[in-house]
Amino acid sequence: MSVENIRIVLVNTTHPGNIGSAARAMKTMGLSSLYLVDPVVFPSGEARALSSGATDLLENAIITKTLEEAIADCELVIGASARVRGISLELTDPREGAHIAVAEAASGTRVALVFGREDRGLTNEELRLCHRQVHIPSVADFSSLNLAASVQVLCYELRMAHLAGEGESGVPDIRERALADSAQMESFYQHLRSTLDEIGFFKSCNPDKIMTKLRRVYGRSRLNSVEYNILRGILSETQAAVRNLRR
Ligand code: SAH
Repeated sequence: MSVENIRIVLVNTTHPGNIGSAARAMKTMGLSSLYLVDPVVFPSGEARALSSGATDLLENAIITKTLEEAIADCELVIGASARVRGISLELTDPREGAHIAVAEAASGTRVALVFGREDRGLTNEELRLCHRQVHIPSVADFSSLNLAASVQVLCYELRMAHLAGEGESGVPDIRERALADSAQMESFYQHLRSTLDEIGFFKSCNPDKIMTKLRRVYGRSRLNSVEYNILRGILSETQAAVRNLRR
């Protein structure tokens, strides 16, 4: 089933009740893979109580220290955010986002839907690890849903996309080759940054700002394994050439 490739990732959740309610929301919609990044209180009786029987999801939840670890093997990462301004990611609504997630999951892509903290949402650094942002189109001056409520909305859309058969039937395999996963992309960005630094590209520009823009470009193009290896090769050769010249 395609939704098995979709995981819900809750980042640094403060209230254990929200973890339980999110597990319940997931189970009712047929999702089971829950990742908890640095939860403030877990395990917890409150989480169990509010999961209302979805305790299997809590027991099988995978706990990580960082978001990077939770998404390392994912090729598509979608961040849910109440904020829409000041974020340079491609924006999608829950219906379109769920359609993309289910269609990609059906062809073997591991997909993560990432939710932020109750008080502050996701940091800019965490959003930078995402390929897209999904925003539930709430009203502008009261835009933030409860964490578990937003998990419910997105899981419902995933369910609808799944039931519509988009994931099950006739979706062509959009991947000729495996896509580079998040861990590979992170090492690519480090390599790119050090190469640009060595060739003196940044000059007086702020490297962080340039890297944010470059991450956007490469995030959009979803490199497969062959493309990834070509780019890594180009970077290595560039570094070798510069080092030779300087010798
Ligand atoms: N003040 C925070 C809101 C946090 S609500 C902020 O500025 O982001 C906790 C989490 O619920 C968010 O990080 C997000 O993952 C999810 N969420 C809440 N409202 C949402 C919305 N309108 N669209 C998408 N996700 C939302």
